Amino acid sequence: MSPPKKRITILGSTGSIGQSSLSVIESLGEDYQLVSAGAHRQWRLLADQARRYHLQKVVITDPKYEKKLKNALVDTDTEVLAGSDHLVDLARDELVDIVVVAVVGAAALPAVLAAAQAGKTLAIANKESLVMAGCLVMPLARQNDATVLPIDSEHSAILQALRAGRRHEVKKVIITCSGGPFLEASSDQIARANLADALNHPTWNMGPKITIDSATLMNKALEIVEARWLFDLDPDQIEVLIHPESIIHSLVEFCDGSVLAQLSPPDMRLPIQFALTYPDRREGPAPLLDLHQIRQLNFQPPDPERFPALRLGFEVARRGGTAGAVLNAANEAAVGAFQEGKISCNQIAELTELSLRKHNSIENPDLPQIMEADRWARREVIDSLKSLPHSAKL
Ligand code: NDP
Ligand code: MG
Repeated sequence: MSPPKKRITILGSTGSIGQSSLSVIESLGEDYQLVSAGAHRQWRLLADQARRYHLQKVVITDPKYEKKLKNALVDTDTEVLAGSDHLVDLARDELVDIVVVAVVGAAALPAVLAAAQAGKTLAIANKESLVMAGCLVMPLARQNDATVLPIDSEHSAILQALRAGRRHEVKKVIITCSGGPFLEASSDQIARANLADALNHPTWNMGPKITIDSATLMNKALEIVEARWLFDLDPDQIEVLIHPESIIHSLVEFCDGSVLAQLSPPDMRLPIQFALTYPDRREGPAPLLDLHQIRQLNFQPPDPERFPALRLGFEVARRGGTAGAVLNAANEAAVGAFQEGKISCNQIAELTELSLRKHNSIENPDLPQIMEADRWARREVIDSLKSLPHSAKL
């Protein structure tokens, strides 16, 4: 008898990770079945997905688009639900084995907690929920036999490399970083960069928020905290290394000096597939590595002067408590302000740091305390914007 199909929901199916996940599921064939999906506003694309994959349920989190989506699917059997609460329902639905969390930002947290509580396999791209509340998500997953598998390429690489040794044999992990579009830029050039410059990532094609995070290196700061929670690391065991080609996705150094790395061309379909098939491996749609063609791999230390965000990542990994929620929320608010042309690129890390400085962290917070820290940090950034001297704004 063939093993039962793995039934999957994708939260954030219309985004970059969501759509790559769909192509992976298609290529995996009949052992994997997408049963439901959720998106925020792109109702047309969600309706197309519902038809193509004969989905049982779809959720549109912005209720403004409920009617349009219902009309578009009126002749199908797909159940249409509206509002973010229903994302939580998809995450704990008994129809589902694997929850792909491809929503951007803090909005994913309730569904992540629900999936952990329901003992699902979480294939999690959304690093923000782990940065905010890794201290809740990971113990909840352990208590309920849920499996948390990273999609983030660096963390997938670490997961793969960790399998080469035992936990107590790990000396450190080295998270690689392309350096983003401003790797060679001066501080002045970064300060003058506009949105198009920040969105021009040299190696990865991703959604806008993570692309901006990659330009400020705040993405790496978030990934330090993400790694700390996912792998229960001491922050002093984490290093960051600039590697412009994005071929080595991260490395693990063991106590005997052996360093294990995971290499592949920069394509998210590979880490997505590994999270779906874990612990097995399958042939997949991602391109193969050709080192004859690449010939050279480069490395350099990160520059904390031009990229102060990195420091914040290490600081927050050490502080723990509600500091993660503040880092994430202040950054989300500041990225929003940058997208609206209200601040310059370098002010994203400045405003985030300002919030962190003012925040009195609560140790071992509960969910209401984390949510309050999130709201507080967003208000802080908005207030700081109002008080910025006019010349400091764009
Ligand atoms: P996108 O912006 O491309 O997609 C975001 C998805 O989230 C869309 O489906 C969007 O719906 C949905 N969404 C947006 N806001 C909300 C909300 N308030 N409630 C519910 N759903 C919402 O982002 P990415 O795919 O690039 O990134 C997704 C996550 O994966 C992020 O956390 C990112 O850090 C992480 N990640 C991404 C990588 C990548 O290569 N893209 C690599 C590693 C991690 P709609 O389209 O309808 O607005
Ligand atoms: Mg990453």
